[in-house]
Amino acid sequence: MDSYDVVVVGGGHNGLVAAAYLARAGRSVLVLERRGETGGAAVSFRAFEGVDVRLSRYSYLVSLLPRKIVADLGLDVELRRRRMSSYTPAGGSGLLVDTGDDDRTASSFRAVTGSTADFAAWQRFYELTGHVAERVAGTLTEPLLSEVDFRERVGGEAWSLLFERPIGETLTSWFTDDTVRGVVLTDALIGTFAAAGGEDLRQNRCLLYHVIGNGTGDWDVPVGGMGAVTGSLAAVAAAAGARLVTGAEVLAIDPDGEVRYRRGDTELAVRAGHVLANVAPATLASLLGEEPPERPEGAQLKVNMVLSRLPRLRDPAVDPAEAFGGTFHVNETFSQLETAYREAAAGRIPSLPPCEIYCHSLTDPSILGPAERAAGVQTLTLFGLHMPARLFEGRNEEVREAALRATLASLDSVLAEPIEDCLLKGPDGKPCVEAKTPLDLEAELGLPAGHIFHRDLSWPFASDPGQAGRWGVETTHERVLLCGAGAVRGGGVSGIPGHNAAMAVLGG
Ligand SMILES: Cc1cc2nc3c(=O)[nH]c(=O)nc-3n(C[C@H](O)[C@H](O)[C@H](O)COP(=O)(O)OP(=O)(O)OC[C@H]3O[C@@H](n4cnc5c(N)ncnc54)[C@H](O)[C@@H]3O)c2cc1C
Repeated sequence: MDSYDVVVVGGGHNGLVAAAYLARAGRSVLVLERRGETGGAAVSFRAFEGVDVRLSRYSYLVSLLPRKIVADLGLDVELRRRRMSSYTPAGGSGLLVDTGDDDRTASSFRAVTGSTADFAAWQRFYELTGHVAERVAGTLTEPLLSEVDFRERVGGEAWSLLFERPIGETLTSWFTDDTVRGVVLTDALIGTFAAAGGEDLRQNRCLLYHVIGNGTGDWDVPVGGMGAVTGSLAAVAAAAGARLVTGAEVLAIDPDGEVRYRRGDTELAVRAGHVLANVAPATLASLLGEEPPERPEGAQLKVNMVLSRLPRLRDPAVDPAEAFGGTFHVNETFSQLETAYREAAAGRIPSLPPCEIYCHSLTDPSILGPAERAAGVQTLTLFGLHMPARLFEGRNEEVREAALRATLASLDSVLAEPIEDCLLKGPDGKPCVEAKTPLDLEAELGLPAGHIFHRDLSWPFASDPGQAGRWGVETTHERVLLCGAGAVRGGGVSGIPGHNAAMAVLGG
């Protein structure tokens, strides 16, 4: 039986980060990936036959990937800042957050809310999260701090507002306007099925990871798409000597280090000093023959579109290129989000699905082929909230269709023309639109019930005193470590759990 220092189960971007660090440190590394390509949820894909557009098919923006990892591994990755942070239609006008022009943002707040009080509150809120980001970002690639040390680091006010009470309470006391509250709340609900006031605070943890990346919380566009990030990681790992094997589905893991997998019709086994699980904790449990620790549930609809042109907006005051260049919020006021949550929790597709869209090709036209670029084609990525897996169980096809229809109608409610009129048609005459439900993500990527973070996000500190000083990747088996989104401080395109698992193996 072949033997390696480390076998990585799953070749998602985190598995590749771990493999790259370990191979560069001289360890023999084998990565076993079930799919035909590495990258997991961080890949680019030509989704429509005959249309040369490389869409970031699942994840699409980068905030959490530390500059340290990019520098340590010498990654060839360009992340491009978006000038417009967000645009939110509201009545006849819209809330435009222009990161380069506070006066313009302030006057947009005045137009939507009737005063600039909420803009002042907005600036204070993001100063506070900025302070937390600065103090916390560097700790994510270090051993876990205790809760007490972490709390001291972020300070009492931030602790009370972000870590102790439901974010819904903080937002309703901090802001007066429903639209403004909603724009902030969306970051707490990405892939996270929760009410704003949920007592378990999973929505707070989701918000936190959306505001701390690299000490700023900026969400940038990966030039060349997500596939460029993963491609660079795979190249670095392979160049350092890691063996990357695709089409290799792991069937079982023995805690003593034996890994059984299937390639084509052949079953094989390999021995490992350490097994690093890039798969979700629930998947790891079943590979170990154990009872899964929890049943995670994803809650989003991802829609990828290619447009022949950008749609016209109802709001004549804003240039579509500006509105679509940042995160464009659709029916995401605080009260709309709460209504959608209640409807979905009661087992129904939200009547007005809240979602956010953005046009990658405005910031990075390199994802378009030459003919598409010349023709003025654009991409549109849509992330729909509050679409839990339970809605789709047993009738995925039918409900996907209904959820897509409801979501496009929601989008149309803020446009001056139907989005359908702007969809590019492929050579087969079909419009370029595809939707991915949580169950689709489970089937394609192995995400349990489509949970985009493998499980609900954890606080980025030791949740019990025994964890302080460790890496947050440990399992009950000494040789088996998590190296994916389900580790403490995992989730998102960050490479952090991959880095931390590698450090745990290297004893750093
Ligand atoms: C639709 C969508 C949109 C998102 N948008 C963003 C975004 O814009 N920005 C952001 O930061 N994050 C986003 N995320 C979250 C982010 O993509 C994930 O949290 C992250 O990619 C997880 O990376 P990972 O390497 O830990 O795991 P994964 O990417 O899940 O990789 C795990 C790998 O394990 C493989 N595998 C599973 N089972 C087996 C097996 N038995 N044997 C072998 N291999 C196996 C899978 O095929 C997969 O390649 C999004 C996710 C989704 C799904």
